[in-house]
This record gives sequence, structure tokens and C-alpha cells, in this order.
Amino acid sequence: MMMHSFFPQGVRSGAGPFFRRLPARRPSLLLLLALGGMLWLGGCATGYYNVTDFDTVVVDPGHGGHDSGASTRGRRTRLLEKDLTLDVARRINGKLRAAGFRTIMTRVDDRFITLDDRVDCSNAYRKSVFISIHFNDACRRSVHGAETYHNRRGTWQLAERIEHSLASMPGGEDRGVKTARYRVLRKSDGPALLVECGFLSNPAEAARCGNAAWREQVATRIANAIIVQRQ
Ligand SMILES: [Zn+2]
Repeated sequence: MMMHSFFPQGVRSGAGPFFRRLPARRPSLLLLLALGGMLWLGGCATGYYNVTDFDTVVVDPGHGGHDSGASTRGRRTRLLEKDLTLDVARRINGKLRAAGFRTIMTRVDDRFITLDDRVDCSNAYRKSVFISIHFNDACRRSVHGAETYHNRRGTWQLAERIEHSLASMPGGEDRGVKTARYRVLRKSDGPALLVECGFLSNPAEAARCGNAAWREQVATRIANAIIVQRQ
């Protein structure tokens, strides 16, 4: 949020030659209330409210079909991002359903879906949260940890919950909550997030990603963050 935009620029701090010196006063309650109201309205306008009244979650396993996404290097069994995203998304889906949410998965098998079709699926449901699952890739093998992106439509708090929860897993690292102009985030009318669960380019993290028990933990933490957010 551009905090400085709420305040007039270039206000003189001194009294100036044409003003009589007045006794120093505490800011009145009315002024504080007015300022608080401006900040609150500004927060709403810039997406700094936090969504809590959603009943539907659109779970989007990234990639699919001919689009494999990232993959591990130098391992006997090569892990493909599209398979890992589907596995984690299925697990999240099951946990959210068990918690009473309506859920929609953008794909349930290994097929290609355009980004716009994914967004259309998300936009078809009012009071929904869209969450896209991905795994990451970097040139430097040392880079590791989860990254959570969001589209500022009431999503900041949920993004923080997810990021902190994933970062506290063994071997995790808090890479922070971020915004980016990803198409699925930009084009979604409602709250939308994209979680990069880990770097397949990091050998230790790739080994964890290949472990079903670890993916179950990732899914549990993401689902729990969503469940807590609605309460
Ligand atoms: Zn991806």
C-alpha cells in the first residue's frame, strides 16, 4: 500500500512568517477518527481487507499434459512439476472437502488447460478463493523454500498464513509473501494465490518434494491455513 499517498506532500513544518504562534495542542479525537476512517477506506480500496467469507475454493494444479513445468535434474527418477502439483492439489482438495468447503479442481488428471480456462473456472464462482499449486526452479541450486504470491484482493493475510506455515517445515525457508503479474492472479476477479511449494532445482528440496509424506504435510498446512482464514 502506498501509505504516503494518503498524506499531503510538501507540507511546511514551520509556522512561517504569516502565522501567529499558537499553543501546542494534542490532536483532537475527531481528527484521529477522521484519519483512521481515511486509512480504513484506503485499505479497502487497495485490497488491504482480508477475505474471510468465502465458501468455495478453486484448487488449480499447475501445468499438465504437454506442459510438464519444472523438473528435477540428475536424479534417476525425474520428477515433473505437473505430477507433483496434481498430487498436492488432490490432497488439499480432500482436506477442504472434509472441512465442509465446496471445492472445484481445474484438472483432475494429466491434461493441458490454458491459463485463461483456469481463470474462467475461478471467476465462475462468487465467494471463492483461487489457489494455484506450483513447484519452483532456479539457476542457482542453493535456492530453496516456499514462495506465496497473491493478487491483493483480500489475500495478504491468507498468503502470510500459508508462507509462514510452509517455511516452518524442516528444511524450509521463509522467502516472503509476494505479488507478481502472473496471468492467473491478474485476471482473477476474486482472491487468488499461487504457491510455489519448493525448488526442484535444489537437490535436498527435490528429494523432499519426491516424498509423499512431505507432500501430505505441505497439503495439510495449505489446507489448514485456508480453513483458519474462514473462521
Ligand atoms: Zn509452475
